[in-house]
Amino acid sequence: MKSAVLTRLTLATAGLALLAPAGVAWAEESDTPTQRVEGFAPDGTPFHTDVPVEDSPQVQSQALSDATVHPVEVNGPDQNRNVLVLIGDGYQAGEMGAFAEQTDRIWESMASHEPFASYRELFNVYRIEVPSTDSGVSGDPTEDVVRDTPLNSNYWCGGIERLLCTDTGAAWSYADLIDGVDNIAVVANSEKYGGAGYIEEDIATLAGGNEQSIDLMMHELAHSMGDLADEYDYYAEPGDGSRYDGPEIDAPNVTIHSEDEMLGDKLKWHCWIGEEDPNGGPTGAFEGAYYAEFGAFRPAETSLMKVLGAEFNYPSRQGLIEKMWASAGSLADSHTDRAQIGREVEVELPEIDTLTTTWYVDGTRKSDWDGRTSVPLTWDMRGSDLSVVITDETEDVRDQRTCATGSIQEEISWKVTPSRRPW
Ligand SMILES: [Zn+2]
Repeated sequence: MKSAVLTRLTLATAGLALLAPAGVAWAEESDTPTQRVEGFAPDGTPFHTDVPVEDSPQVQSQALSDATVHPVEVNGPDQNRNVLVLIGDGYQAGEMGAFAEQTDRIWESMASHEPFASYRELFNVYRIEVPSTDSGVSGDPTEDVVRDTPLNSNYWCGGIERLLCTDTGAAWSYADLIDGVDNIAVVANSEKYGGAGYIEEDIATLAGGNEQSIDLMMHELAHSMGDLADEYDYYAEPGDGSRYDGPEIDAPNVTIHSEDEMLGDKLKWHCWIGEEDPNGGPTGAFEGAYYAEFGAFRPAETSLMKVLGAEFNYPSRQGLIEKMWASAGSLADSHTDRAQIGREVEVELPEIDTLTTTWYVDGTRKSDWDGRTSVPLTWDMRGSDLSVVITDETEDVRDQRTCATGSIQEEISWKVTPSRRPW
């Protein structure tokens, strides 16, 4: 889906782009292709707008061969992890040390917020170094500053100073240097607050040297990673009197239902109602969300999905955790293929504190094996059915029906055989 959109945009503009200086002359074209982006003003309030597509295939092909991939933090096999790629723009070859320090700091900051803190082990983070002709990016500090950089990142995008746009086609090209990338952030060599979230392309931009930009990146990643909705109540301008009268919204953190309706019919975040929100105040149903002042409700007064500088609320945390596990594909990184007497059966788990194991032999729980990741296979077990149930007992996920913990589970089973079969 993402690459289909990318391909279409690239083909539609490639012919013209060859005639134009990299990513500059587009706004003047009458039928300029545009992309929808979300930005945040320096006071932390969000907005949406459409911006021209940055496209510079000639820059891409030249720079791709110079790009190099480096681990920021690798915790397991890529196919069992949420793979986040940080692509640098505006860093000259001699500035890659600074880029490395900034990507470390970006990831440390993100990993200090829940639910990423508890699920840090479910991420693999890489940085991609692309040497830039100029140091810094366009529009920093002033609108007239133009710099030659591999992804054409620029402040003053669409005339908005803090809106930091980039060449999303080039970003996906670089990201494709790694298999199975889930999320991309383009890191501009700047200390000036700014950023953007590309709605269709699942790309966030941020300033590498600015702490507030990291909050913006987390907000944008929560959209693409957790399918979370915006919890603010306007599209472009606050106080527009808008009303949502559509069907129930898929996202886990917004709803058309009141608190009483949720509690009565066990809908949406009914399990969290009354809990003290991580930002303070009770979890409930607060009118004003999903770009409408009326008719849509959010779980708490404030949230990172509403304004920068806040934490995620509980329904958002739960939604993110469920999606992170879905993206990982399994609660186990690997397990023993066959169960043979005289050997051990083993499951390898990510180092997440809330994971537990319970083992069963022919359906009977072996309580003394609780919590083990390997068990011995003895002769008396021949022919038995062996299984392990892996459970995430996190307090941050509640079963939709019963509200109990432990709803994220996976069972792995084996038939215990005397020895390798003689085939
Ligand atoms: Zn948003």
